[in-house]
Amino acid sequence: MFFRVSEGGNSLKRIGVLTSGGDSPGMNAAIRAVVRKAIYHDIEVYGIYYGYAGLIAGDIKKMELGSVGDIIHRGGTMLYTARCEEFKTLEGQQKGIEQLKKFGIEGLVVIGGDGSFQGAQKLTGHGFPTIGVPGTIDNDIPGTDFTIGFDTALNTVIDAIDKIRDTATSHERTYIIEVMGRHAGDLALWAGLADGAETILIPEADYDFDQITYRLKRGQERGKKHSIIIVAEGVGSGMEFGQRLKEATNMETRVTVLGHIQRGGSPTGADRVLASRLGAKAVDLLLEGKSGVTVGIQQNKLVYHDIDEALSKKHTVDLDMYTLSQELSI
Ligand code: ADP
Repeated sequence: MFFRVSEGGNSLKRIGVLTSGGDSPGMNAAIRAVVRKAIYHDIEVYGIYYGYAGLIAGDIKKMELGSVGDIIHRGGTMLYTARCEEFKTLEGQQKGIEQLKKFGIEGLVVIGGDGSFQGAQKLTGHGFPTIGVPGTIDNDIPGTDFTIGFDTALNTVIDAIDKIRDTATSHERTYIIEVMGRHAGDLALWAGLADGAETILIPEADYDFDQITYRLKRGQERGKKHSIIIVAEGVGSGMEFGQRLKEATNMETRVTVLGHIQRGGSPTGADRVLASRLGAKAVDLLLEGKSGVTVGIQQNKLVYHDIDEALSKKHTVDLDMYTLSQELSI
C-alpha cells in the first residue's frame, strides 16, 4: 500500500463527508473515493451520518480504509441521508459549523442534489471550505453533463419499460409510464429515446394533447399493437393523464408509476466510474485550497464551477434529443 506523503503547503489534516437529500445509486462509490483519496494523501476522514441533520446532532465518526470496503457495488448510501429543515436556518448552520470545529474537521465534501448544494453554499458563505459532488438520479445539476445515479436510474427505467413492452405486445393497449423528475425531463427523455416511446412528456417542453391522440389513432390504424407514453412526474400525474387519454380516445390505457425503484439498485459501471472520479476530484480541490465549488464532468473532462454559479443557472434538457425522439417515433 502506497501513501502519498503530504507535500509542503498542504496543511489539511482532517475532512468530513456527508450525503444529503434524495439518495442515488453510486453515492457509496463516491464516499469510498473521498475516503480512500484522502487517506492516500494522509488526511483523516470523518463520516457524517444522516446529512445535515447528523451534522447538527454531531453524528460523526472517523472512517478508515476498511470503512468503505465492499460498498462500491451497493445502491443507497452507507452514511444514510436525511432532509433537515433546521439547516436552512442560520442557527442550524452555526450548530453544524460548531460540530465541524469540535471534531477538528477543516473541509467538507457534500454529496447530493441542488438542495444539498444550497446547504453547502451556506457553509461556504460562513467561511467553511465545502465542495459539492452532484448525486441525484434527476441529472438536473448545471455544470455537469451527468450526475451520479442518473445512468443507473436510466437503466432501471429501461428495464421496467422493456418488461411492460413484453406484456403490452400481448394486448392492444396504451401504456403510460410515469418516471421521476420533478423539474428535469432527462430521465424521461433518455428512457423514451432508448425505449422507442411514442410520446415523451417532459417539463421543459409543452405538449399538444390533440397531436398525441392523433398519433395514437394513426398508430392503431396502421396495426400497432401498443403504444408507450412516458410522463416525467414534473409534467403532472401519470394517472390523471391516463384518465384524460382514455376519455378522449376510448382506448384501453394502463398506467404504471415506477416510483422509488428508480432510486435503488446496484450502480452501473458508468456511475461507479463517475462517482470515483468526482469523489476523488473533490478531495483534490480541498487540497488545493478551493472552497464553494461543485465538481462535474463535461465532455468527459473533470471540471469545477463556483457553487453560486451552478445554483443560479437553470438546468436545461437537450431539446435536439427531444426533437429526435419525435422524429423517430412517427
Ligand atoms: P436534494 O439535495 O436531493 O435536492 P433537498 O432539496 O431535500 O434534496 O435538500 C436536502 C437538504 O439540504 C435539506 O433537507 C436541507 O437540510 C438542505 N438545504 C436545502 N436548501 C437549503 C438552504 N436554502 N439552506 C440551507 N440548507 C438547505
